[in-house]
Amino acid sequence: MKVGVHVSIAGKIYESVDRAKELGCDTFQIFSRSPRSWQTKELKKAEVEEFKKRRKEAKIAPVIVHIPYLINLASPVHSLYQRSISAYIEDIKRAEILGANYFVTHIGNHKGRGEKYGISRIVTALNQITAQIRPSLKILLENTAGAGTVLGYNFAQIAAIVKGIKEAKYFGLCLDTAHAYSAGYNIANEHGLWEMLKEIDELIGLNQLFLIHANDSKTVLGSRIDRHEDIGKGKIGREGFVFIVNHPALRKLPFILETPKKRPGEDVDNLKAIRALEK
Ligand SMILES: [Zn+2]
Ligand SMILES: [Zn+2]
Repeated sequence: MKVGVHVSIAGKIYESVDRAKELGCDTFQIFSRSPRSWQTKELKKAEVEEFKKRRKEAKIAPVIVHIPYLINLASPVHSLYQRSISAYIEDIKRAEILGANYFVTHIGNHKGRGEKYGISRIVTALNQITAQIRPSLKILLENTAGAGTVLGYNFAQIAAIVKGIKEAKYFGLCLDTAHAYSAGYNIANEHGLWEMLKEIDELIGLNQLFLIHANDSKTVLGSRIDRHEDIGKGKIGREGFVFIVNHPALRKLPFILETPKKRPGEDVDNLKAIRALEK
């Protein structure tokens, strides 16, 4: 299986490759900048070259960039909406410069204005973004846990977004297991996993699934609360992950862990735990 973790870009951006390599990752995910600030530091040419060189040497693929948390493509506030669109474009450009393969996107938050409003807002933003930059990488829409007024906690909502997208070729899906579970998909058992995948297939198409965010869930089924847990130690559990890792529709996909990093060695343990489940 192809598995890796979300690694930090502290220091120089190319140090993230070293971290991934040290952990023995086949693939890895990063933020291209601080995820909690609108400010960006310019990516220096020499640093980008070094990033690409080290990545090539380490033979790591795919490389995934995750959008910053502040971006909200469903925001009802005009200034925040516009700011989100420009930051999003800037972030895709950064991901492209780094030679990333996938760009993972949280769906957005309608902040009380309603699902329909939020979805149309996102569709407009995404169409505007792709018309402007025609990205060379794939944008992956990630399912959410559905806390508060966050969109994308069921695949009907994501399908509604996909339907509104003009240039489908730029888009795909990222499945986060912890989010799916807390949103109410009981993937801790085999039947529940098949049911969810059937729903994805009918509404969007399983061939649109390009990436798994493999996280166990600290919170109970349907809690709509997003708390990641170490693989096998949460509510999805070891048995649940045996089905996920070995499912014929999923096993060939890259798996990225966004599990807790509370103690040293936790990433190594999680990588070991998930690899041990492969049959
Ligand atoms: Zn995720
Ligand atoms: Zn999460």
